[in-house]
Amino acid sequence: MSVVASETAETAGGKAAAAGEAGKIRCDACPVMCIIKDGMTGACDRYANAAGELIRVDPHVLIDRTLSAGGEFVPFLGREAEWDGRLLGEATTFVTAIGAGTTYPDYKPAPFIVASEVDGVDMVTVVTEGIFSYCGVKVKIDTDRWLGPEQAMVRADGEAIGHVTTGEYGSQMLSLGGVHHLTGGSKREGKVTCDALLTLSNGLPVELAIDGGSTVIVEAGKAPIVNGVPETRMRVGCGSATIGMFAKQWLGLADEVVVVDDHITGVLSEHQAGKLLGIPDTGIRMKGRRSTPGRYFQVAEPGTGWGGTNLDDPLAILGAFDPKKGARPGLTLFMVSTTGEHAAYFVLDEALRPIEHAIPAPLAAVAERIAENCEPALSTVLFMGGAGGSLRSGVTENPVRLTHSVKQALTRVTCGGAPAYVWPGGGITFMVDVTRMPSNAFGYVPTPALVAPIEFTMTLADYQALGGHMDHVRRLAQADTPQGRRLVAPISDNPWPFGPSGGGGTS
Ligand code: SF4
Repeated sequence: MSVVASETAETAGGKAAAAGEAGKIRCDACPVMCIIKDGMTGACDRYANAAGELIRVDPHVLIDRTLSAGGEFVPFLGREAEWDGRLLGEATTFVTAIGAGTTYPDYKPAPFIVASEVDGVDMVTVVTEGIFSYCGVKVKIDTDRWLGPEQAMVRADGEAIGHVTTGEYGSQMLSLGGVHHLTGGSKREGKVTCDALLTLSNGLPVELAIDGGSTVIVEAGKAPIVNGVPETRMRVGCGSATIGMFAKQWLGLADEVVVVDDHITGVLSEHQAGKLLGIPDTGIRMKGRRSTPGRYFQVAEPGTGWGGTNLDDPLAILGAFDPKKGARPGLTLFMVSTTGEHAAYFVLDEALRPIEHAIPAPLAAVAERIAENCEPALSTVLFMGGAGGSLRSGVTENPVRLTHSVKQALTRVTCGGAPAYVWPGGGITFMVDVTRMPSNAFGYVPTPALVAPIEFTMTLADYQALGGHMDHVRRLAQADTPQGRRLVAPISDNPWPFGPSGGGGTS
């Protein structure tokens, strides 16, 4: 298929009437309404004019359990196969919405409403590639390093596409996309936002710049790269938790241990764990705000140094040692960060000044143990959207019944066969981990909006009861896909879409 720019309705101006002339046809799969010449694709590259017929360009993706029978499936790597024409097993084949097409405008039933018998029960799966003008991604970046202030703009290619939200345990959260960036700003802002969401959702890297903070390269399932430095470890806990975990292992190796952390810095001798172990006072004085014994907030500014602070020298968080409270020459002090990445060892001299020495091997081993207990740092991308009226009316003549059915866990929601978490409250608002979906599951249309697969699976009886489009139900073998089919093996961690633990994730 040659890929040549088509005329969109917008560029074609008043040429709508020209549809049908000289081999041109109009695509009605999204509001852009491209008029497409023979042999060309529309503005989104998803639909084409093949000898006067409007076709979906990409093959329709089906998940086939038998493909994974030979061993563990490695997602996205060389295990995908073109459909070889054999009969598909109803219980072992799941029809995803990837490549299925859309139903815009809303009066049409979903492109595929496919019945199959599973364990003696008649099931039906309704699939649509939904057009999401109102969607976003939530990004979790495992890092102690400071990415930027809460509420700061996150930019891609210079455009605001989202903002920094809360810092959670060991991770910084970003919220990208959403209705305001996609449709509420300039045309370029909407386009750049859509591009960034699409790239992230399809598992590719995007460089993000945070106002007043860092740049970070985010790629789903890969380590984040902060200011050009790949992150390796997610911290084992806050400084206080680290004291709790390793206090016993430090016993006898150092008189005092400080775990430097931007959020909660821990001090062994003052901490409850130290008290229980009988560790005597050391006369240490900490800067920052004391929360509870041995736990200090705000010891330094956030940054990309020790424990997510802006410090290269950990001694900057200490005041003078107090001899009246136990400080003495020869007292030993071990300082370490919550990832074990930074560590230093000091001995107080005659003037009670900490002098750096080489870290004794047993202490270095505990720092290694901290590192060993850290999870690999990853970026996680969750696509989030709401199945609105258009989608729901593709499923049933009475769309609110689909919402009720989902909330009652009668209907399971999946995205490209991956389990979706459905939020409590109104509507069918769902989130899905993009790494659990087949490759290139997402597309876009230049309204701008993302195109995402969504499947609703339920018993045929429930489908009938909710007012489903029963006259459009087809058996799997009858579900003709002129553009061809692509079989992929299930992703190993996913529950099988028909299974009882299919992960509808309803409230
Ligand atoms: S952008 Fe794509 S889906 Fe929308 S009308 Fe054009 S070809 Fe069809």
